[in-house]
Amino acid sequence: MANLKVTLVPQLSDNYVFLLECQQTGEVAVVDCPDAEPMIALLDEKQLTPSKIFNTHHHWDHVGGNEDLISEHEGLAVYAHSSDASRIPGLTTSVDHGASFEVAGMTFGVLHIPGHTTGAVAYTIADCVFTGDTLFAAGCGRLFEGTPEMMYESLNVKLAALPPSTRVYCGHEYTASNLEFALTLEPDNQALLDKQRAVQAIRAQGKPTVPTTLEEEFATNPFMRCDQPAVIQAVRSKLDGEPRPAAVLAAVRAAKDAF
Ligand code: ZN
Ligand code: FE
Repeated sequence: MANLKVTLVPQLSDNYVFLLECQQTGEVAVVDCPDAEPMIALLDEKQLTPSKIFNTHHHWDHVGGNEDLISEHEGLAVYAHSSDASRIPGLTTSVDHGASFEVAGMTFGVLHIPGHTTGAVAYTIADCVFTGDTLFAAGCGRLFEGTPEMMYESLNVKLAALPPSTRVYCGHEYTASNLEFALTLEPDNQALLDKQRAVQAIRAQGKPTVPTTLEEEFATNPFMRCDQPAVIQAVRSKLDGEPRPAAVLAAVRAAKDAF
């Protein structure tokens, strides 16, 4: 949607906060903010008043700024998944899978994507999706609360159903190390080699590698390539019996955890 402006705001060592502005109505929303102080200063400098916070999950490096942002901007609404109601500071609006709502004339959608945490959600708007710590560029979040089956469905059924051109805004700058790991599984994947070269150039300039697109993830992300012979072969020794996609994902996740 031409009216939506997304600004990446780096925080902490590798988090991304997203500032969403509707250029027609001036409405402003924030996706996941760990540290309120620099965000308040930035909003002040840009003379923006946020009306909403969209939280992707309950981890402190995503919700840590909620309370101070609310005290600064009275009436700020906080959105998160209904199952996370008790662990999102300042929550005002519980959302569930399939929900959609209007903000400044733009339609937001909600996908429940458990795996990293049980209450993880993605928000879709226009041609963008905000995936928190569930889908990263060339990777996925650790399975802290969910099962491999949940993560498989979140990535490969729910997120994968969005148009391939969808721009993926994830919560951390982990792309370079994710690619390094992915290449241990698929050293001959040309899309991976090309992406690594591009990412090295971007990082050399100190720029973000986010957003990526779903299309790029289908070609490079091992957690979205669990049906690929090379990926299956790479973890074959860890699988007993049929290489069920969720079992492949579990084996790839375990290998990444130890990487
Ligand atoms: Zn995080
Ligand atoms: Fe997290």
